[in-house]
Amino acid sequence: MLCVDNTFASPVLQQPIALGADIVVHSATKYLGGHSDLIAGVVVTKTAELGAKIKYLQNACGAILGPFDSWLVIRGIETLHLRMKQHCNSALSIAQFLTTHPAVDKVYYPGLSNHPNHTIAAKQSSGFGGIISFSLKTNTEKAAIELVTSTQLFKLAESLGGIKSLISHPANMTHKSIPATKRRAAGVADSLVRLSIGLEDADDLIKDLQQALDLQKTNNPFKQALTTIN
Ligand SMILES: *Cc1c(COP(=O)(O)O)cnc(C)c1O
Repeated sequence: MLCVDNTFASPVLQQPIALGADIVVHSATKYLGGHSDLIAGVVVTKTAELGAKIKYLQNACGAILGPFDSWLVIRGIETLHLRMKQHCNSALSIAQFLTTHPAVDKVYYPGLSNHPNHTIAAKQSSGFGGIISFSLKTNTEKAAIELVTSTQLFKLAESLGGIKSLISHPANMTHKSIPATKRRAAGVADSLVRLSIGLEDADDLIKDLQQALDLQKTNNPFKQALTTIN
């Protein structure tokens, strides 16, 4: 039995059942809803038998989405194909920009040809999505915190997949519950920053990251001022 969490790709970019999966789950809170205004989930099964088992559990446990939230998901899905196109195009431009900035160490985005999974991503999905992560040359939590608190268009928050761009610091947010040694061993560096690219103009987003990253440069007066404030 193969179960795939397809949240980051959405059904527009990748259809796991066609690729051999038995069950696909989505956090509809993310791209399907797309507007960061609901919490919902979807389970898709390959066979009607599996679907009936899930439905039995839903009925028994009461895990049923309310009518208004259901309607919000449906309304979100109607623009999903257009949103995913923009998320993908902007994310690729932004990932490429990040690889050129001197303060940035590693950039993780499957659309970059040097990403270890670029070939398989290109083969089985029709786009590389809107999520990017990157680490800093100054590999400290302090440097990352300075960065994630210096953007203006990117809002500091968890979650992803909405129309507005979000920035987060996994070591202090999504992955804080994992002990630091385990977290680092799993590749989540202290300075790792995650971006969810929204629908704002890509050049505006690049400018926002540029000004926040420029603060990382040593001897930058803004950085010293920030350090003093903190
Ligand atoms: C957010 C997320 C979940 C959890 O979904 P919720 O709707 O927040 O409960 C599961 N898987 C992935 C990949 C997610 O991004």
